[in-house]
Amino acid sequence: MLSRLRPILSLRPPVPAYRWAHTKEKGKPLMLNPRTNKSMAFTLQERQMLGIQGLLPPKVETQDNQAMRFQRNLKKMKDPLEKYVYLMGIQERNERLFYRVLMDDIEELMPIVYTPTVGQACTQYGHIFRRPKGLFISIHDKGHIRSILDNWPETNVVAVVVTDGERILGLGDLGVYGMGIPVGKLCLYTACAGIRPETCLPVVIDVGTDNETLLRDPLYMGLYQKRDRSQAYDDLIDEFMEAVVDKYGQDTLIQFEDFGNHNAFRLMWKYKEKYCTFNDDIQGTAAVALAGLLAAQRAIGKPITEHRVLFLGAGEAALGIANLIVMAMMEKGMTQAEAREKIWMYDEHGLLVKNRPQENDGNQEAFVHDCPPGNVQSFLDAVNTIKPSAIIGVSGAGRLFTHDVIKAMGSLNEQPIIFALSNPTTKAECTAEDAYTLTNGRCLFASGSPFDPVTLSDGRVFTPGQGNNVYIFPGVALAVILSGVRHIQDIVFLEAAKALAEQVTDKELAEGRLYPPLSNIREVSVQMAVTVVEYVYAQGMAFHYPEPLEKNSFVRSTVWDTKYDSFLPDIYDWPGVNFNPKT
Ligand code: NAD
Repeated sequence: MLSRLRPILSLRPPVPAYRWAHTKEKGKPLMLNPRTNKSMAFTLQERQMLGIQGLLPPKVETQDNQAMRFQRNLKKMKDPLEKYVYLMGIQERNERLFYRVLMDDIEELMPIVYTPTVGQACTQYGHIFRRPKGLFISIHDKGHIRSILDNWPETNVVAVVVTDGERILGLGDLGVYGMGIPVGKLCLYTACAGIRPETCLPVVIDVGTDNETLLRDPLYMGLYQKRDRSQAYDDLIDEFMEAVVDKYGQDTLIQFEDFGNHNAFRLMWKYKEKYCTFNDDIQGTAAVALAGLLAAQRAIGKPITEHRVLFLGAGEAALGIANLIVMAMMEKGMTQAEAREKIWMYDEHGLLVKNRPQENDGNQEAFVHDCPPGNVQSFLDAVNTIKPSAIIGVSGAGRLFTHDVIKAMGSLNEQPIIFALSNPTTKAECTAEDAYTLTNGRCLFASGSPFDPVTLSDGRVFTPGQGNNVYIFPGVALAVILSGVRHIQDIVFLEAAKALAEQVTDKELAEGRLYPPLSNIREVSVQMAVTVVEYVYAQGMAFHYPEPLEKNSFVRSTVWDTKYDSFLPDIYDWPGVNFNPKT
């Protein structure tokens, strides 16, 4: 073949038209590998050279054409879970095409690959299972985790997302079914921040489950045992962390996801200074919520230091957000004590106050205040007593921002801030419609799960912001990976929050949006990464040298895209044959 082509080499254009990927694989295995498969986009030359001619219909398709086929099929489907299964099927067959389809319609498909549908997919994991994705490590693998990592086919992993499945979204303990979460999060690393998919490793750690329904389900796929809460759990996680850095290097990013409250905080404190790690439920949530507050502050024209915030819920999300708000207030000149005084919390036992019968855990201590005057028996009482300018719902307990609560916020504030962040949609503290209607369009609203735009009776339309962590973790991850940050300090999340809030335009604020449109997430994440990379180099937190002089072009030059590689050296990319896809 080569000798037949050589005489016409001089006809080649001077610049290769697209990239050449070297592969040892040939024939059917090349097509069965989602990383190398291009489906009908293999050119005729490639089919001939790679031994796949005849294994595909004769037409050579462009990626545009392929994407159109999948988009049309997706549009026909009504059930979100059906769409999820279909999309994940594309990922298993043709990775670049999967990301192409996802990125073309990210606003529409984000709720499918991530919240809320991924939650449904996790609960149904054993029933919709096709092929395993990610790495499964069980408590019985203790002592062998390093060799299990050796079974993972990729050697250049830079980011790991790990869960132990104990607190999946707002759905509770789903054990090994929680794998849907690291898989989904890492899809967003790639789709939103262009982090190469082969460098991402999803992991579930199976120490059993306390979910009785799963333990009785014959299709369950994890260990049929109660959660191990002994020292063996800690030893297992320690071994996992050591094995990851031993195999992939010290600056491998390890994102903790959906661990139960107690373990999430413990592990975050334990590993914060030792590994390159963060907990998205605590730190990522904190940054996205703070960004919403900072955008709201722009809209209201009142500095963050003048706000008083009342949380519904005092768990991972609430404490993470509260601590970052304190940091933001301190940056504006307040002392830590003054800032903490501005933040109140109300949990399932009532207001967090000194001497209440229920013990407050150590992480909550900073926000436990003296009992306010008056009798606080309900969240409504708390609102009327504390008189907050913002209420943030992160209880996972459903519609607890009642009509009376919303109206009270409306009478206490000209422009109340109402964030109903609990997921999924059914657990949100209130709907967008209630928030806007009951405050006559005066509130600044954000939710965790998406809500449709709301039209008031006078015709005004409000587009609720979705305080989705996806605005933060891909951009932060990209910055951390590129700059070689060793320990991700909270200040990095403060910078990320500011970078996000700055990207909301005045026009978007006027429409009620506190976050940029999700359709723009790729640019938002990359821009955030640029800002964070600039910050960490300036602060001496970056360890990849030489320092890139031009951070913007440096970050952008690393971003992965979905264009197919050519499997032929560019000497074969000669003109005169018009079936070359060049997508
Ligand atoms: P968690 O279990 O750590 O904390 C839940 C808190 O809510 C606890 O303090 C609990 O006492 C309190 N609570 C429970 N029932 C209550 C009730 N009836 N009244 C008052 N308080 C009650 O959970 P978490 O990680 O903090 O997550 C909480 C919710 O926030 C979940 O629904 C989660 O999906 C959501 N969340 C949203 C985002 C986001 O939108 N970006 C991010 C993270 C978490």
